[in-house]
Amino acid sequence: MEELMRNVFLYLSKNQGLNHAAKKWGLRFGASRFVAGMTIPDAIRAVNDLNRKGIVATLDHLGEFVTSREEANESADYCIRTLDAIADAGVKSNLSLKLTQLGLDIDKNLCMRNMRRILDVAQSHDNFVRIDMEDYAHNEVTISIFKELRREYGKHVGLVLQAYLYKTEKDIDDLHEFRPNLRLVKGAYKEPKEVAFPLKTDVDKNFIKIIEKHLLLGNYAAVATHDEAVIQHVKAFTEKHNIPRSQFEFQMLYGIRTGLQEQLAKEGYTMRVYVPYGNDWYGYFMRRLAERPANVAFVIKSMFKN
Ligand code: FAD
Repeated sequence: MEELMRNVFLYLSKNQGLNHAAKKWGLRFGASRFVAGMTIPDAIRAVNDLNRKGIVATLDHLGEFVTSREEANESADYCIRTLDAIADAGVKSNLSLKLTQLGLDIDKNLCMRNMRRILDVAQSHDNFVRIDMEDYAHNEVTISIFKELRREYGKHVGLVLQAYLYKTEKDIDDLHEFRPNLRLVKGAYKEPKEVAFPLKTDVDKNFIKIIEKHLLLGNYAAVATHDEAVIQHVKAFTEKHNIPRSQFEFQMLYGIRTGLQEQLAKEGYTMRVYVPYGNDWYGYFMRRLAERPANVAFVIKSMFKN
């Protein structure tokens, strides 16, 4: 039953009609539990609240799979305005984004131009931009764009790799020469068994394997998970191998396991929360529901609220 619900929500996450309609609705169906608001001031307010608790952030102006040049350029403008707002407000946050939001599916050159515009601004503020990893169809091109931008912008750009893909262990080796700053995650999209571990237990095992590998190679890891067993393992592993806390951080999503977020920050770990905002909330929200069918209860309750 759980697998069926997961598949339904992952299928719905790609529905363009509903995605379009949702942009006009405003945050609905309990989405405000996972999305900080619609505007940049909403987002900065949420980051300020986190910073007061000793938690840093990464802001994500929601958007993905855009199909027009105008939309792609507008998205890039939003990313730039977000970086400027972070600098103006003096809050502790970097930026996360998706390449399909910047026009990757329309024209790779358009996407590269947008990325360079954003990274020029990030560099001028001495900030950092992380490229989220999307579905498997975009995996190789995302990695190749990251390599090119890493050569040009160095420490100002990072990438995400997903433990559910068989290829990720090899990608970690191949990327080592770039000394990459990687966010490591389990993976959020629906992928066939030809490319991704179908069993969650295998994904969990590979997650630990790639985290350990990346850390032992001496590279920076953002361990992005709400899985307490993994977090405990990383704490013990880094202590055992004398890996300094400056070489890794924990990341979680806005609105999920907030108590654990605060606890890790209190223990002195760098705790970064991914704070999404904007009107393109639909796909992101559907993936959060797919991860945890229990979240659907929030949706149902919110539908009966005024
Ligand atoms: P799970 O085993 O799924 O969950 C462990 C426990 O966490 C659950 O038992 C539950 O208590 C809690 N939990 C997990 N998800 C939820 C939820 N939605 N609601 C409530 N509780 C929950 N994926 C990508 O494919 N590409 C990316 O670029 C990407 N970026 C991410 C950035 C961050 C900061 C984080 C935290 C995740 C990101 N993800 C990304 C999503 C990731 O791949 C997983 O889908 C997601 O984190 C759930 O897996 P988990 O590691 O928390 O472990």
